Amino acid sequence: MGYDIAIDGPAGAGKSTIAKKIAEKKNMIYVDTGAMYRAMALFMLREKVNLKDTAEIAEKCKDAEITIKYEDGVQCVFLNGENVNGLIRTEEVSEAASKTSAVPEVRKKLVSLQQELALMQDVVMDGRDIGTKVLPNANLKIYLTASSWVRARRRYDEFLAKGESADLEEIEKEIRERDHRDMTREESPLKQAEDAILVDTSDMTVDEVVDRIIGLIK
Ligand code: C5P
Repeated sequence: MGYDIAIDGPAGAGKSTIAKKIAEKKNMIYVDTGAMYRAMALFMLREKVNLKDTAEIAEKCKDAEITIKYEDGVQCVFLNGENVNGLIRTEEVSEAASKTSAVPEVRKKLVSLQQELALMQDVVMDGRDIGTKVLPNANLKIYLTASSWVRARRRYDEFLAKGESADLEEIEKEIRERDHRDMTREESPLKQAEDAILVDTSDMTVDEVVDRIIGLIK
């Protein structure tokens, strides 16, 4: 039997940073499910699909083949054979992903892929519905969160570090809107699984969070 860790939480809580470090320390595979929803959103943007048209998204998603490969331990997402890792971290794609991910057909397709990946190896998987839907029997479930202000501030600092300008208030507004969409959608909304452990990272460093979670692994 394998050992799987599910990490869920809102945008900017630090899920990917934390999940990556735990996977490294515990020799597990990190699976970033948000990247899959982002690749799907990129496809819809390229196809100029109306993001309000659920039926069109449901139909179009049949034409998007999303696969995952690991190159030097880094997860690469392929969209119809093209590595799109470098194209999915924009605000436009973030927003589109939170819209297209609400469509049941999109979720069905990507959840199957995620479950297949977990069957093959021990995974640390992060997303919104991992503990509630994708891996309901995960050995350890974490619900990682932080105040929306702290999450916006972290994203803002990332932009500045890259030499880009950013508007803190605007970022917080976008984060709140995305949280709202993810938490209120009908299909697999973001919520803490009953058996998940809540970790609020607002006043914690990355190392503190990693140590806390490693301490919870049995
Ligand atoms: O985690 P990340 O910000 O990359 O996710 C982008 C979007 O993909 C989220 O806002 C959410 O709408 C969607 N998502 C999801 N279920 C997951 C992972 C991501 O609905 N398991």
